[in-house]
Amino acid sequence: MSAKSKGKSRVTIFPDWCKGCGICAAFCPAKVMELNDQGKAVVVREEECINCGFCELHCPDFAIMVQPKVDSEIPAGSKSGQVNASPTGSVESEKSIKEKG
Ligand code: SF4
Ligand code: SF4
Repeated sequence: MSAKSKGKSRVTIFPDWCKGCGICAAFCPAKVMELNDQGKAVVVREEECINCGFCELHCPDFAIMVQPKVDSEIPAGSKSGQVNASPTGSVESEKSIKEKG
């Protein structure tokens, strides 16, 4: 369940690739995206993202990227239960090495 926790994902939309079909805004269960005045998708409630991956998977133009936030981007109150936000695993690796001496 931790992978689908709120507030631990960074949602990036590449406006040049977005054709404004609205799929992401219509089907995001957390209503993270909206279409702006130019008809492009914009992230308006990133903190609500539950990292379900729907938008990234269904955007016909591959204009959305959902990634785990790095530790420093996550508010202190929502860090509990987090294992490792680093995509490379380097933070955890370094910690393990230090602990082992
Ligand atoms: S699904 Fe992709 S192309 Fe469609 S509005 Fe969202 S970002 Fe734009
Ligand atoms: S990953 Fe899921 S919750 Fe997050 S923005 Fe995409 S569709 Fe919405």
